[in-house]
Amino acid sequence: MVPEAVLNTGGLVEGAFKEAATAKVTVQNLRRNISILSGAGGNIAVLTGPDGMLLVDAGIITAHPHVSEVLASINRDPIRLLINTHWHFDHTGGNEWMHEAGATILAHENTRKHLSQPTRVEGNWQYTFPAAPEGAIPSIVFKDEHTLDFNNTTLMLKYYSPAHTDSDISVYFPEADILHTGDTFWNRDYPFIDYASGGSIDGHISAAEANIAKVTDKTIVIPGHGAVGGKADLILFRDVLVEIRDKVAALKRQGKTLPEVISAKPGARYDAEWGNLFQNPADFAALVYQGV
Ligand SMILES: [Zn+2]
Ligand SMILES: [Zn+2]
Repeated sequence: MVPEAVLNTGGLVEGAFKEAATAKVTVQNLRRNISILSGAGGNIAVLTGPDGMLLVDAGIITAHPHVSEVLASINRDPIRLLINTHWHFDHTGGNEWMHEAGATILAHENTRKHLSQPTRVEGNWQYTFPAAPEGAIPSIVFKDEHTLDFNNTTLMLKYYSPAHTDSDISVYFPEADILHTGDTFWNRDYPFIDYASGGSIDGHISAAEANIAKVTDKTIVIPGHGAVGGKADLILFRDVLVEIRDKVAALKRQGKTLPEVISAKPGARYDAEWGNLFQNPADFAALVYQGV
């Protein structure tokens, strides 16, 4: 067996741990009793009220002190319920401390599966995540849909078909008309596609279509990464994925190698704006190339 230190040669995950340790976490009220925290990894939605705090996603583990501080600036209520949009470390890293602080964790059954065992991520992550500690593992899971009431607010959870991973869910707040898409939507950043845990470019595009179908012009959309947006941003995201997928597929059909496809710059129109977060233009072209 190869030691973990050898497997985890990728700097992306280590870099994210380091960055989140010092990044500033900010809070923004969206509508009614729902806010988001940004800067801790994936965007975290916070629902407040008489039942205590409910969070959608938990950030990167190293952001813990900053997340705690910002939550305390909202109010001192305990975190009662935590929903994970999928299993990735930048959305579940806070699971253990939030559970210890009293939160029950709810997620798709494949989030529990991936957190319960060592899971390898390829692409530009090149990282093997060990099984999460007991307290970090969701105790309530579902398969297709799950609706609940918390803080006099309805939450509708829905599983996507495999898209970014095989564990992605959306969380919709109908009274406030706010949709949290998890990492099926990145607002002006190229998405990561986790093929090793069931993701694909075509699945990502199907999820993008599903998100567009779910919203109106009035819906507030919380992406996994990037600024809060709306329907027009979901449409742009879908269009960017489709355009790059089609270009890369055509080049691959012509027999072009991956380095040749990267040199052809299939995302030239978007690279300067979209290639600055986890995936640079070459990383994203490689992720698409793998799936066409
Ligand atoms: Zn993420
Ligand atoms: Zn993710």
